Amino acid sequence: MDSTATESGAQMPVNEQTGMGPIILFGPPGAGKGTQAKVITEKYGIPQISTGDILRDHVSRGTELGVRAKAYMDQGQYVPDQVVCDMVAERLTHADCMKGFILDGFPRTVAQAEWLDKYLGNRVFDTLKQCRPAVVIRFVVEYNALLQRLTGRRTCPTCGRIYNVHFQPPRVPDTCDVDGSRLVTRKDDREDVIAERLKEYEQQTLPLAEYYRKCNRLLEINADQPVEVVTAEALRAIEHGHSL
Ligand code: ADP
Ligand code: AMP
Repeated sequence: MDSTATESGAQMPVNEQTGMGPIILFGPPGAGKGTQAKVITEKYGIPQISTGDILRDHVSRGTELGVRAKAYMDQGQYVPDQVVCDMVAERLTHADCMKGFILDGFPRTVAQAEWLDKYLGNRVFDTLKQCRPAVVIRFVVEYNALLQRLTGRRTCPTCGRIYNVHFQPPRVPDTCDVDGSRLVTRKDDREDVIAERLKEYEQQTLPLAEYYRKCNRLLEINADQPVEVVTAEALRAIEHGHSL
């Protein structure tokens, strides 16, 4: 593994084995980003950076950031850009990111995307010859399917595995297949909060699709298909990038 300093001074991850750059998973809540991120993480040995998970960890530990973020998260609103960008900047300094990384749920606003481009170096996608461009994979799922996915979502508080009472039920109800922990329902997976989260997505995140499309970095996949089919399409997008 190696790393290359960009104009902004940020160390760009370069995976010499795969030539892989950052992978950005883009889509509404419930689209399956976390589910797919876990498969990609295992396949390529690169970390999943989920801003939602990092924020929930802060909330559960009661840190100053967590207390501040909770007020937004409980209402389904976005945490301010600066808070999230600082958090991501800190996470990207960890050694495991040098091999490449998956961003799950970040960036979520145009301001965050601009910040990320600057952080990684403005022309990184053109200048970093040995590294493939960042792949931005958009998961497209229609509204009613999202509602069903979110209300049926259960997660393991110990290993983070994601289940769904309708589509991916655990072998024993409410119990993690891997470690036997009792599954939990996220506090923001309630219908009133879900509606607000989907509204935030439409208003603040959808414009990002245009941002990435304009610079030819957006790959769209139909995520309204069985998990394994979506995985196959996501891996094809990662490995063949813009020739998909
Ligand atoms: P996100 O990270 O985008 O919010 P998740 O990966 O947590 O989404 O998935 C949301 C819910 O939908 C989970 O309960 C998950 O088990 C389920 N799910 C994910 N992908 C699919 C799929 N392709 N088909 C049906 N259900 C899915
Ligand atoms: P998620 O786990 O991705 O569904 O995120 C859960 C919640 O965390 C969101 O509803 C937001 O309140 C907050 N959050 C996560 N990522 C971001 C982000 N990139 N920008 C702003 N808020 C975020």
